[in-house]
Amino acid sequence: MINESRRVFIGFGGNMGDVEATLMEALFAIDEIPQTTLRRQSAIYRTPAWGNTDQADFLNGVAELQTRLTPNILLQKLLEIEERFGRIRQQDERWQPRTLDLDILLFGDDVINEANLRVPHPHMHERAFVLVPLAELVNDLEIPGQGSLKDCLAKLDISDIKILE
Ligand code: ADP
Ligand code: MG
Repeated sequence: MINESRRVFIGFGGNMGDVEATLMEALFAIDEIPQTTLRRQSAIYRTPAWGNTDQADFLNGVAELQTRLTPNILLQKLLEIEERFGRIRQQDERWQPRTLDLDILLFGDDVINEANLRVPHPHMHERAFVLVPLAELVNDLEIPGQGSLKDCLAKLDISDIKILE
């Protein structure tokens, strides 16, 4: 059976290494996933890492995909890309923490509550660095269980989210 094509939004981000280059390569890799097309991507935004101020700023964005894959297969492909681009091999040859985070934000109107996959992403509605780039791609949409994107965005402080020059 051929699955119907679904509109999916992916959040991408990182704060280690040459993040901008990693994000660009990751988007290219996403477009190469079988039965999946990268439709559009937001600008990249810079957000100061809160808490530990020694940390580099985070760079984040949102991409719109069209896919015929199931949510679980798409997740598996995204985790493979995280593995491929998201780790820096240090001199001691041990894998270091990820430099790339790829999250499924929305998968059509699906609500998924599985141990390894929750959609809508459980924190997206409270994260300005997700909703600001998402709002660049769509006028408005319903976040299942959370209300409209516009209403969620109106509750957030977006002053820290700066478009990358
Ligand atoms: P976070 O993105 O919350 O900072 P991680 O990226 O380390 O945390 O979490 C990875 C795990 O989160 C994946 O192995 C995946 O199974 C699980 N997960 C649950 N829901 C989602 C989702 N919507 N998108 C991506 N990963 C998800
Ligand atoms: Mg993640």
